[in-house]
Amino acid sequence: MRQPHEPVIPRAAEAAAAAGARAAAASADPGAARAAVGNRLDPWLAAYAERTRSMTTSEIRALFSVANRPEVVSLAGGMPYLPALPLEVIGGIAQRLVAERGAVALQYGSGQGEEVLREQIVQVMTAQGIHASPEDVVVTTGSQQALDLVARVFLDPGDVVVAEAPSYVGALNVFRSYQADVVHVAMDAEGLQPQALEETLTALAAAGRRAKFLYTVPNHHNPAGVTLSAARRPQVLEVARRHGVLVLEDDPYALLGFDGDPLPALRSLDADGVVHLGSFSKTFAPGFRVGWAVAPHAVREKLVMAAEASVLCPTSFGQLAIAEYLSTYDWRGQVKVFRELYRERRDATLQALATHLPEARWTHPEGGFYVWVTLPEGLDATAMLPRAVTARVAYVPGTAFYADDSGRRHLRLSYCFPTPERIVEGVRRLAGVVQSELET
Ligand code: PMP
Repeated sequence: MRQPHEPVIPRAAEAAAAAGARAAAASADPGAARAAVGNRLDPWLAAYAERTRSMTTSEIRALFSVANRPEVVSLAGGMPYLPALPLEVIGGIAQRLVAERGAVALQYGSGQGEEVLREQIVQVMTAQGIHASPEDVVVTTGSQQALDLVARVFLDPGDVVVAEAPSYVGALNVFRSYQADVVHVAMDAEGLQPQALEETLTALAAAGRRAKFLYTVPNHHNPAGVTLSAARRPQVLEVARRHGVLVLEDDPYALLGFDGDPLPALRSLDADGVVHLGSFSKTFAPGFRVGWAVAPHAVREKLVMAAEASVLCPTSFGQLAIAEYLSTYDWRGQVKVFRELYRERRDATLQALATHLPEARWTHPEGGFYVWVTLPEGLDATAMLPRAVTARVAYVPGTAFYADDSGRRHLRLSYCFPTPERIVEGVRRLAGVVQSELET
């Protein structure tokens, strides 16, 4: 199996093909020029923009093709457990929406998003102490698009983004595609370390560089499975404020905590210095592709313009369906169903790790979907992956979550989708692979 980090076409070959192509493109024969723009695999190789250099096949994509086979226990993808959703209720909403309000639900809408949904998003966020008005909210095509919009609005090639070590792979891919340099900051069991953030920002300033923003997932971190403690929240904000760095708070898991109420969002502590992102993907259904951003006024204006350039408007149908679901169904009860389900799976994962893999270390998530595992010294989770898949278990190697090549000793396990029995079997298989690595 090809190693996940290996580009489809080796860089040197790519560069040589591009150089030849440019030379031929200057010649008089347009047909010859086109034939020589790339190579046999891709005739347009030399035509691509610089930013596509980072767009190589990701671990996750390579994995999904094998991990989806039924015999493989996939602890890789972070897919919500949708069999727990009230599908007949959602079906009824969709049907009524088309029959009664089809002319609106199937039409273009506002670039900022439907007001009726923005009003409800404001209510959803009160659980985290966020006081916003519907005017402050921009509805996006999942929070993934919000990440793209923030990057589009703030990042020029060579700009610095400061992000936790490790960080959500989908965000790293966005920052890379805008040719930003990601500088990682250490975390521990209490999340991002304010002191490490201070040192990083000071070192950047000494080198004449300033981070455009701090990217952070404060609750039930993907992939680290830790939560930024209440004590650290104001400290992180204070450091960012002092260095003049915007905070990008990516927060799709806030309502999926297993114990007690969510901690106050960073946005609730600093409305001027934080762009807060939320999503219905984990608390409801990712297939609707509805998320949101709450941003300071001027930033929000830019985000709306960037969104209009990108998609004109978010899904009218999806927004109205979610608005109807939130106002007519006990959605908080449904989130509780998800929480109980994921808590049981988290427990199964931690218990199985303690039983079968005592030589490893792992985080203790208080919510969300993920456990971050540190393998014994000398093991390499990226190199081990093909052997794990052969042993019918899949995970995401730690290297996916770093902008540099670190993370080799780590891997991410997702416990959200498989049943507790499958999780135990998956961890047992993983332990078998680790054992044979240790013996060779
Ligand atoms: N941020 C984080 C931390 C995530 O884990 C995910 C999904 N895996 C997203 C953003 C994107 O979610 P969506 O676009 O479905 O809202």
